[in-house]
Amino acid sequence: LTGAVRQRIRDRAGGRCEYCSISDIDDAISFQTDHIMARQHGGAAVAANLAYSCSACNSKKGPNLSSVDPKSRNVVRLFDPRRQKWSDHFRASNGHVFGRTAIGRATVSLLAMNDPVNVMVRSTLDLLNDG
Ligand SMILES: [Zn+2]
Repeated sequence: LTGAVRQRIRDRAGGRCEYCSISDIDDAISFQTDHIMARQHGGAAVAANLAYSCSACNSKKGPNLSSVDPKSRNVVRLFDPRRQKWSDHFRASNGHVFGRTAIGRATVSLLAMNDPVNVMVRSTLDLLNDG
């Protein structure tokens, strides 16, 4: 990807991870361009298939397209930031991210969004953002 494409993807995401919503204002957290549908599944490196993602979410997501909703134990598709709206599937509170739907819950679970380190970083950055 060229720097210009990368910049466009960042701007489109408002400088936040499109999965866990962590902000990229702290240079300590590296951000990557996630293939929503992995190349392994035939996903292309085009803007419509790319998401701005923190390295924690990107590494946990890997090539997965689906996971298990911890509530119903059903297999469901993961959240797709290009086709779905974040606030329909998630809500954030005190550094935690909660799934509102089966898709949201499965994505929170697979990406381990509420691991203690992620929660701590997210709440710290939210304070910086607000301040
Ligand atoms: Zn993230």
